[in-house]
Amino acid sequence: MAKIVCVLYPDPQTGYPPSYARDSIPSITRYANGQTAPAPHDLGFKPGELVGCVSGELGLRAYLEGLGHELIVTSDKDGPGSELERHLPDAEIVISQPFWPAYLTPERIAKAPKLKLALTAGIGSDHVDLEAAAKAGITVAEVTGSNSISVAEHVVMMVLSLVRNYLPSHEIAVKGGWNIADAISRSYDVEGMDFGTIAAGRIGLAVLRRLKPFGLKLHYTDPHRLPAEVEKELELTYHPDPVSLVRAADIINLQMPLYPSTENFFNDALFAEMRRGTYLVNTARGKLVDRDALVRAVKAGIIAGYAGDVWFPQPAPPDHPWRTMPYNGMTPHISGTSLSAQARYAAGTLEVLQNWFEGTPIRDEYLIVDGGRLAGTGAKSYKLD
Ligand code: NAD
Repeated sequence: MAKIVCVLYPDPQTGYPPSYARDSIPSITRYANGQTAPAPHDLGFKPGELVGCVSGELGLRAYLEGLGHELIVTSDKDGPGSELERHLPDAEIVISQPFWPAYLTPERIAKAPKLKLALTAGIGSDHVDLEAAAKAGITVAEVTGSNSISVAEHVVMMVLSLVRNYLPSHEIAVKGGWNIADAISRSYDVEGMDFGTIAAGRIGLAVLRRLKPFGLKLHYTDPHRLPAEVEKELELTYHPDPVSLVRAADIINLQMPLYPSTENFFNDALFAEMRRGTYLVNTARGKLVDRDALVRAVKAGIIAGYAGDVWFPQPAPPDHPWRTMPYNGMTPHISGTSLSAQARYAAGTLEVLQNWFEGTPIRDEYLIVDGGRLAGTGAKSYKLD
């Protein structure tokens, strides 16, 4: 029987919720690209419940224990004495979420000789060292598509919040003030601005589609060019490289995966190419942006506002400079784990586990590493160097 270690974020500080703001969530069965939503059998939770935290257990316990497997659920993931490290030597499967990542470094992979499957309950498997996983014959899979629209909606929210100066204006209202001139001295309309996304995969394209009605001029760069009919429909300008895009944009969305050569992608050199007063939104990964170069760019006025929900490491330390730098709209990593999103990625996690234990193939689009190499979505979107 297998040992499955599932690393999830802690329960709410007020305790696991006894009730919810809404009684149900809409049922989404198909995504924009035609892909069907996860469809496992014996779903162990009611969609709309909080399953992404420790007590929610992604609703997996009944299914796994019914087969006689051992399920360990913990949020204790960092450091040599952590519960995750204690269970690594005999774990066959590690499940983790990008929001509270169980970093599977080469050193940890070496301590896990029985590990066969690293499963991301969500999207983005950069917390796993993909090269080390490939060498060790570990399959890496994620629930591609499950929270793409959740994140795209978050990006739209952050674009509007930054440009219209929503957060400081809200704070004035909460504090009993009526300082209109203070609130609007950094407030603009997005209409007519140039918006560019770096990567137009599932999320990047969904952001472009959602922003189209706002009257923005839309730009993108991606090693994979979109079909001509999509470029025409959205009136997109394609840029062959990121420098060309950042020179042309007032608002930039960062949406590419993190792999070794995209670490610190936004650095002093790239910030120097940007228009003064650019807004930057990053819901992709914190490590794509050089932490201190960003603070310098904000202070220099190159960046008029920065928002996102991704940091490194996660959880971010209390003194992380992005928490307090001017004009930031940061949140903890929440965009892809709304109650709606987690219903889909928890169902997808169960679907992959059922494939694993029932000997049926994992969907190709869920695969990142398989058979010692990048596979599926991994082969399209990631590099090992
Ligand atoms: P996707 O696989 O559909 O698309 C990724 C796109 O990135 C592909 O089109 C690929 O060609 C492009 N790309 C790869 N390298 C690039 C480069 N160097 N420059 C420009 N483009 C490049 O993935 P997706 O579902 O759109 O997700 C994108 C990323 O967003 C994920 O890898 C993850 O890091 C992040 N994400 C974050 C959250 C969250 O909760 N904040 C949730 C989901 C995904």
